[in-house]
Amino acid sequence: MHWETVIGLEIHVQLAAESKIFSGAPTRYGAEQNTQACAVDLGLPGVLPVLNARVVDMAITLGLALGAKIAPASIFARKNYFYPDLPKGYQISQYEQPIVSDGRIEISLPSGETKTIGITRAHLEEDAGKSVHDAFPGYTAIDLNRAGTPLLEVVTEPDMRSPAEAVAYMRAMHALVRYLGICDGNMQEGSFRCDANVSVRPMGSDTFGTRAEIKNINSFRFVERAIEYEVERQIDLIEAGGKVVQETRLYDADKHETRSMRSKEDAHDYRYFPDPDLLPVVVTQSRIDAIKSTLPELPWTRRERYVADFGLELDEARTLAADRPLAEYFEALARTSGDPRQSANWLNGELAANLNRHGVGIESCPVTVERLGKLITRITDGTLSGNLAKQLFEALWNLEGEVDELIDQRGLRQLNDSEAVRALIAQVIEESPTQVAQYRSGKDKVFGYFVGQVMKRSQGKANPQQLNDLLREMLA
Ligand code: ADP
Ligand code: MG
Repeated sequence: MHWETVIGLEIHVQLAAESKIFSGAPTRYGAEQNTQACAVDLGLPGVLPVLNARVVDMAITLGLALGAKIAPASIFARKNYFYPDLPKGYQISQYEQPIVSDGRIEISLPSGETKTIGITRAHLEEDAGKSVHDAFPGYTAIDLNRAGTPLLEVVTEPDMRSPAEAVAYMRAMHALVRYLGICDGNMQEGSFRCDANVSVRPMGSDTFGTRAEIKNINSFRFVERAIEYEVERQIDLIEAGGKVVQETRLYDADKHETRSMRSKEDAHDYRYFPDPDLLPVVVTQSRIDAIKSTLPELPWTRRERYVADFGLELDEARTLAADRPLAEYFEALARTSGDPRQSANWLNGELAANLNRHGVGIESCPVTVERLGKLITRITDGTLSGNLAKQLFEALWNLEGEVDELIDQRGLRQLNDSEAVRALIAQVIEESPTQVAQYRSGKDKVFGYFVGQVMKRSQGKANPQQLNDLLREMLA
């Protein structure tokens, strides 16, 4: 039997607002325990929630980017359950009428293909506090700093068919929310986390199998691995004559397995009802229009522009456009250097490698656009070969000086003088009669030997193209 995997994701996007969704308490991460929660977040008697207007704008922003419907009126409900980190005894969340519904996002798969994933809804809600199990031996402590932190829960249709598609979707959404500036995307701090709903069905079947929901996955790698594990578990179970039960499971990355947490509760278990303390959220068309006018160019539009205007390959365009600061650096570099092709090469090559090696983002790249742009113009005008340019780049990275000054000081000028190169070649030919004889008897491989020898004598400065041409000519 062949099985098909079906996946729907729910992503919790922590909105980058400075204060809580229903109170003025700060949302700062990593502050001392219980210093960022006010009476409203603690659920003290008699307090009233007041909706943070910024988070509504952020939800609308994402909705517009997803081509979704923005509800003219949406409702906050109380989702009732007991847990020590939830002092009110209910979570305020949009239930029946979410602010955003019916959107879509395009994802790019490793194969180079693209696929559209439907977005069922995105609703606003508050986060709960946190149970801390390792602060006091024998006790569990409660930290309510996170209580009331604004979240946007983005729910997809069950449109994904493999762990790779789930990862691609998560990456696309991660890039988008950072592009829009509505989330810092910090997955270690829990600003972007995901629940994966997974089921399997016989290939060709048109009904869905029973799903399990894997909670709180906070890395791209874990999403892939957790789903892979879960799919295998379900297939093994069914093939052994068992049945998948609808439940909530936890992924244990150390053991690489999912474990049952609780059987799945149904909506009616939560006794949802509209929160009587909060008015419906009314969104006017003029507010939507105002937000629309502030939307930045989106990653996929940018990507297409790079292909059309700059002649980049789709893949490299995608990498550059996925991250807004990177895209902005790239465009500034293309302008300064006048050479988008070389700019893309440097950003995806040497620069990316250095950023990676030093663990820094493009925002704190020590090589300015002006300097790298100048370096590229020195390649274009023949002053630098690729090799020399790499040496110069290292020096720029270490803030050792300006481009032209370094070229002069360090003698990084490419040797373009054909007479000088001829002289070096003549020397090498004279000193290598054996290799010359081999080359002339048809052993083409020794050509590399000559290139190496001449390059060495030029201290790595010979113009590689010129060297090649002259060498061919003189050996013949
Ligand atoms: P709940 O509110 O109980 O979490 P929803 O119906 O809102 O359930 O669905 C939550 C997520 O589960 C959605 O992303 C949806 O696409 C996904 N989903 C629903 N049914 C299945 C299924 N049979 N297999 C995989 N994913 C599913
Ligand atoms: Mg759910």
